[in-house]
Amino acid sequence: MNKKQRKWRNRILIALGIFAVIMLVDETGLLAAAFGDTGSVFASFALYLIPYLIAGHDVLQKAWRNIRRGQAFDESFLMAVATVGAFAMVAFPDTDPHMAEGAAVMLFYQVGELFQSYAVGKSRKSIADMMDIAPDYANIERDGALVEVDPEEVAVGDVIVVKPGERVPIDGKVVEGSSQLDTAALTGESVPRHVEAGADVISGCINMTGILRVKTTKPFGESTVSRILELVENASEKKARTENFITRFARWYTPAVTVSAVLIAIVPPALGMGAWPDWILRGLTFLVVSCPCALVISVPLSFFGGIGGASRLGILVKGSNYLEQLAHVDTVVFDKTGTLTSGTFSVVAVHPEKGVDADYVLSCAAYAEAFSDHPIAVSIKQAYAGEIDRTRIKDVCEESGHGVTATVDERVVMVGNDKLMAEHGSPWHECELTGTILHVAVDGRYAGHIVIADVVKDDAAQTIADLHAEGVQKCVMLTGDRRDVAEAVAAKLGLDEVHAQLLPADKVSAVERLLDLEQGDGKLAFVGDGINDAPVLMRADVGIAMGAMGSDAAIEAADIVLMDDRPSNIARAMRVARKTMRIVWQNIVFALGVKILILALAAMGVANMWLAVFGDVGVAIIAIMNAMRAMRVER
Ligand code: ADP
Ligand code: MG
Repeated sequence: MNKKQRKWRNRILIALGIFAVIMLVDETGLLAAAFGDTGSVFASFALYLIPYLIAGHDVLQKAWRNIRRGQAFDESFLMAVATVGAFAMVAFPDTDPHMAEGAAVMLFYQVGELFQSYAVGKSRKSIADMMDIAPDYANIERDGALVEVDPEEVAVGDVIVVKPGERVPIDGKVVEGSSQLDTAALTGESVPRHVEAGADVISGCINMTGILRVKTTKPFGESTVSRILELVENASEKKARTENFITRFARWYTPAVTVSAVLIAIVPPALGMGAWPDWILRGLTFLVVSCPCALVISVPLSFFGGIGGASRLGILVKGSNYLEQLAHVDTVVFDKTGTLTSGTFSVVAVHPEKGVDADYVLSCAAYAEAFSDHPIAVSIKQAYAGEIDRTRIKDVCEESGHGVTATVDERVVMVGNDKLMAEHGSPWHECELTGTILHVAVDGRYAGHIVIADVVKDDAAQTIADLHAEGVQKCVMLTGDRRDVAEAVAAKLGLDEVHAQLLPADKVSAVERLLDLEQGDGKLAFVGDGINDAPVLMRADVGIAMGAMGSDAAIEAADIVLMDDRPSNIARAMRVARKTMRIVWQNIVFALGVKILILALAAMGVANMWLAVFGDVGVAIIAIMNAMRAMRVER
């Protein structure tokens, strides 16, 4: 509880104490004995006014402010009218007095409000805690001493020092030292990662064991940690359909119940169907019950909790609308390379043409790929043992889905699949091995090919099985790779459909065709690693990017970002989404159901104000507690 909440709580407790004492005096007949029957009504009016004002003066002020601004219809308005009305019943001193109810309604309303504020604060804080990844400072060495500076002030290329127990403030590369990094806050992964000189580190991880010197590769504002925080902060702006519905609902609901309350209070007694005080009291009770707070607060809180719970697993959801859509996904489309397969290719064979050296083929490929970030390029560079002298490379042109061309030492080198060769009129020939084939041509002459193979991620098959178990009807794989490779992977994983040899544009049209097949509420999710599939990520109902640690494209284009690259997180994200939606609907049905029931009872005069206030606060508290469940996820 913060300071403001503590003060608020104390105020309520004082009011409650005074209220209890007055009630005791009143119920034991002491008041009546002292002031006589009629006199005691006025005495209790004055007495109950004390706790009422202590507890509720701010609600009255707020209601008054809102009325003057012309936005009368909110909860404080309902509360103010109902309680002032209850006290105004003093005008009928002959009937049962209702001051105690007036004060009690205000008191319990405040208890509910305090609880709400506490719950919202708590879930907000726990997201902040979970995402407690924002570093306050960076250590820089100046004249042999370490100084703490604002991370914003660190320039790209500066060397920062990260001591054990500190958070890495800025993305960079280790230049000295080795250590274990705890990435749990980012990925939900509990096994620490070993790093040493040469390794990339991303901000937000905790350095556990050794001192690291890190050369920064990005400014603070573009580092992983800043981008993630920004993303989580903006998440509440993208509202789910259900949430918008509740807001719209509240907008007409409050005026509607106010009008009904007025009608209940006026029409029947005017028609001579009973005494005025009875019906006015019914109208007031009706107002108290009608307060839609449980609904208005618990729905956004559930989404908030769901987003928070997901982020704990290393799943960043950019808005509640995506959580809502994810719950309805029945088709999941995967990109192959880097998504279902690890994307670290190993070289299976190098087949040079007659008279060409195998090493020459590999070195040509490595040089041409020098500037590419494609998983294939990264693997080829790794397989090539030698240094790459980047000054020998010019005119690099990467054609996505095809390969690359570059000029190396005045020779035009082409590396890619048969489409690339065909396009540039270079000869090539097939290989009898199964695998991804990289043809290499130098100055239009065929030099040979490299056969590379990728391994399927170890949790990929389980993911497909889990998704099917979650009710996903179709798991589809799209790839730019060759058909035989694609089919081998598909068979291994139990995919329902594969489409091979697709260019990035073909992937978009394949997804569009699948989107057309969607029926009713069904949604389509596309999962990719963000490398040349950004257009598809945007086109799908829900775009899920994997392995955001480091990849900017993925964070930008996707709706949901999985911090590490384990596909099993997709099934977990879906479980979180479904659970959140279940909770949202439970709350809607429960809150509305109880509300309608008590409203009906109030209109018939069966429910009194006590039941009304317990109904309202009780429903709100139960709904809020239910909403908080969305935050709990199994790691
Ligand atoms: P996927 O759909 O499996 O993610 P891509 O669309 O990225 O694959 O690439 C499809 C094919 O295009 C690859 O299998 C490869 O043959 C070729 N290719 C793409 N980029 C490169 C590159 N940088 N070097 C060589 N070949 C490439
Ligand atoms: Mg790809």
